[in-house]
Amino acid sequence: MGVCCPFLRPWDRARDRFLINLPCLSDPVRRSSLLLKLALVALHLVFIGFLFVCDAEFIEKTKRDPWYMASYFLLFSATLVQYFVTSGSSPGYVIDAMRDVCETDALFRNVPTNSIQHASRQSGSVVVTVEGEPASGGRRTPTSWGKLVLDLYPPGTSLRNLTCGYCHVEQPPRAKHCHDCDRCVLQFDHHCVWLGTCVGQKNHCKFWWYICEETALCIWTLIMYIDYMSNVAKPWWKNAVITLLLVILVISLIFVLLLLIFHSYLILTNQSTYELVRRRRIPYMRNIPERVHPFSRGIKRNLYNVCCGNYNLDSLPTAFELEDRSRPYTCLDMLKCRCC
Ligand SMILES: [Zn+2]
Ligand SMILES: [Zn+2]
Repeated sequence: MGVCCPFLRPWDRARDRFLINLPCLSDPVRRSSLLLKLALVALHLVFIGFLFVCDAEFIEKTKRDPWYMASYFLLFSATLVQYFVTSGSSPGYVIDAMRDVCETDALFRNVPTNSIQHASRQSGSVVVTVEGEPASGGRRTPTSWGKLVLDLYPPGTSLRNLTCGYCHVEQPPRAKHCHDCDRCVLQFDHHCVWLGTCVGQKNHCKFWWYICEETALCIWTLIMYIDYMSNVAKPWWKNAVITLLLVILVISLIFVLLLLIFHSYLILTNQSTYELVRRRRIPYMRNIPERVHPFSRGIKRNLYNVCCGNYNLDSLPTAFELEDRSRPYTCLDMLKCRCC
């Protein structure tokens, strides 16, 4: 360790001591994620801070109409809280689901859980070793998790083809290995650098609420800025700063608004960004017609599953189900609300 080396300069020793006390800063990935989070919080504070410092009317407005400003600060705080809650939430890792299934199975069979499965970390990768499962003739016998995963695929699928080459877990449909998180994620959507985590099955709803709150906050802040601009004449430098902030605000608003519309569409049709963007590269999506959403169970059910935390594993639809879903809409289907 650098701290013990006598040739280190005093500031290097001080830096090493600092990093030991704050282990989250010693890892470059976690450090950049923390810096991005700080930058995002700072950006929020700059927008509201500018109005506080430069707009004399703003303080007056706060005194005159406390409920209006209290509502704004409530939304401001809720957005930041939602951001940190989403950032700290699990997207739903395959290894956790696998551990749960194996432990439940062990309890059911009355087998000590520690003899069923161990998860260990080797050079940053999660390596799963399964004990207590007899091997026969060099072929691995499927674990309870392996059997569960196989049932989600068409008959004849080999477990070998479903095993992740990095963390060695069997992937259910819609799961994908994330190289940033170094784990397989259930219903993988994307890895969000701003959040420093993946968006997957278990935090998609939290992510949607975050972008919804961020959109509302951007619109409200934009209204306050337009209001400030239409006030009395200001010095040129204030006009320059406010124009720059307005440009950043409008770009951010367009971005989060489009993101909100896009993720609302994904939730309503039970799709993920990865499935939509890489449709032709995902083996189970390749032969499915463009307008068919293979995992959709209707708008109401899709919404219920995401909002109420119904985290079931999706099985691949049969040929009959796909044919039924690709059937064109008739007037009767419209009346019966087939899409719902
Ligand atoms: Zn993996
Ligand atoms: Zn990730």
